[in-house]
Amino acid sequence: MILRPLEALGAEPRRKWAAARVWAAHQSPYMASALLALDPVVVDQSGDPVAGRLDLRAFPVDPAWHVYLDPEAVAATDVALIGFWLVHQVSHLLRHHADRCPLGAPDATSTAGRAPSAEEQVWNMAADAEINDDLVAGSAVVPEHAVTPAALGLADSLTAEDYWDALGGRENAPTPPHRPAAASGHDCGSGCDGRRRSWDSGKPGLGTLGHTLIERDVARRIEEHRRRYGNVPAGWQRWASEILEPVISWQRLLASAVRRGVADVAGRVDFTYRKPSRRSSVSGGVILPSLRQPLPKVAMVLDTSGSMDDHLLEQSLAEVQGVLKSMGVGRRHLRIICCDAKAFDAQKVMAASDVTLLGGGGTDMGAGLSKAAALRPRPDLVIVLTDGHTPWPGAAPPRIRVIVGLMDPSGSVPAWARAIDIRPGRAA
Ligand SMILES: [Zn+2]
Repeated sequence: MILRPLEALGAEPRRKWAAARVWAAHQSPYMASALLALDPVVVDQSGDPVAGRLDLRAFPVDPAWHVYLDPEAVAATDVALIGFWLVHQVSHLLRHHADRCPLGAPDATSTAGRAPSAEEQVWNMAADAEINDDLVAGSAVVPEHAVTPAALGLADSLTAEDYWDALGGRENAPTPPHRPAAASGHDCGSGCDGRRRSWDSGKPGLGTLGHTLIERDVARRIEEHRRRYGNVPAGWQRWASEILEPVISWQRLLASAVRRGVADVAGRVDFTYRKPSRRSSVSGGVILPSLRQPLPKVAMVLDTSGSMDDHLLEQSLAEVQGVLKSMGVGRRHLRIICCDAKAFDAQKVMAASDVTLLGGGGTDMGAGLSKAAALRPRPDLVIVLTDGHTPWPGAAPPRIRVIVGLMDPSGSVPAWARAIDIRPGRAA
């Protein structure tokens, strides 16, 4: 495989590529600047054995906005279908699917030259479902195997994270998966999940500033288009208003931090096909991967000092429990410690409403963290919900990842913890 500039394409495929970009801009005029920002890289596989060739039929992108063109895929695909894929891939980039991927950091060795893992394929499907309900609704041309919510038997207009949960992104997820045979999927590239592909050029491309400028331009054009013609898909309208009025709900930030935390401590690629899953017999012939590593053990430390807002605390606790449950971290793996100036004994509870909020005095979250670190089995992840008006220890407890949900912006969070701003005013 050799990466080449666009000029390496013949005159005819180059015309086709240009025509596809025009088709895409005609289809989704508000995305014109994003489509123009795509930087084409030609992936020449003519010297490689046919059996080992990479499947680039989805015209994959990377997070630096390179789009990878396989001359054979260009030759074999209609202008309108290439156009569909360009709008689709730009959508992955605009919606930050690479950053939102719940799989945690990839192993340095895990991505190059191997097929996508089952989990990566499920995320690809989930992210595609988020994009394709809008895209298919407005498009005259749709690839045969486009993943839509309808094809997955799920409702439209959900987020990729919702689809991921519904598809049983983690084996212990409570919902039975509608997951189609894993092998049927295409690969949308590192622009979808942030995991480097063997064809990724690694060259600098569009940076964060460029991305932000394009994002705002597209959002403004969507607003304008909506005012003038009114026919912008609902998902894109929501997206644009979030960009133009950036009120990101704390629920979403907290949920994504918890997901990341669980994924990171659970290990990177925890699924393996080596041992058949116990559920294989009930999943209609689809071989499900089995979980190699145990689920992480999670503890929560709740600040119950007098200054805390109990209602917000209960709401945040319910959010965290919801996310953990969707990831398969149920009652057995979660312990809750109430803490004011001292830490109370850990509680195991079924629902957020069952937690007895003990305390009400002064504040020392250090006591709660020590108590959590002393639990047996020892937790891998500790989530602290606090207003931050507390002393903190100088370092994180060894081998424990700490997420702090901060309920008062004037409170403090130590540098070794991941902080999420939780404020009632920011609720969605
Ligand atoms: Zn895709």
